Amino acid sequence: MNYATAVHETVAALRTIREQWGELLLAIETPPADVWPPRQLSHTMRALDDEQLVVEERAPLVLREHPAPLNVAALDAGLAIERQVFDLADTLAAAVQRVSHGDPRRWDYQHPGAPDARSAAGSRAHGLHYACVWVEGRVLDEDTEPEPQLDGTLAAPPFAPLPPHLLHEARRTARIAEGRLLRTLGLDQRTTPVPDRPCPWCGGELTLHTGPEQAPTVTCSTGPECAGPVPLDVQGRRVWNWGELHVLVGVLGVA
Ligand SMILES: [Zn+2]
Repeated sequence: MNYATAVHETVAALRTIREQWGELLLAIETPPADVWPPRQLSHTMRALDDEQLVVEERAPLVLREHPAPLNVAALDAGLAIERQVFDLADTLAAAVQRVSHGDPRRWDYQHPGAPDARSAAGSRAHGLHYACVWVEGRVLDEDTEPEPQLDGTLAAPPFAPLPPHLLHEARRTARIAEGRLLRTLGLDQRTTPVPDRPCPWCGGELTLHTGPEQAPTVTCSTGPECAGPVPLDVQGRRVWNWGELHVLVGVLGVA
């Protein structure tokens, strides 16, 4: 694999993790989701006055207590993903970090002897979103040029460029973490029969199609004879695309 492709794939995986992290935090606090309605519709169905989840401000899972998570599988996945990305940041920092203490760009390791849990966590205390952004900066070789100072001199670069073997380590780790996150949320590539809810227009079996980079769709197995008020897909099935799904959700009921 060439270097540019590896960079692109690593950055894409890190961004998916950041974008879907809020959904995972919500999943931990809700009982395991049924197949229906699709999880990606949940934000349109949550009441508007629900607590808005600001991922950047949430403490990392490793620093929180979890007295009674409603979805243990989601919590386990979240803790594993945090550990993988935090450990990756440690590894990259050890190899390329030149920036001095006190610089906000510095990744701080854990300090087990620190007086409280938050300072013992080092940069982990800033959470997974921050760690993903920091790793992305190293993958993109940001801040690897000498920096002009006020007195006209040049200071040494804060970071060295990432060597290829660490880029590949970053890519591997990010993609493993991304895959686990998407599987946990049911957003990996899959087709799932919708249980107990036949097509309201023809009684045929409905199938939910999801994938990491596509909005969910639902198809009816009957074919063009189905009277569903939606277009046909290339295989001649009625298909409810993203824009029509909320109608189907309404007709089928959420119960
Ligand atoms: Zn139908």
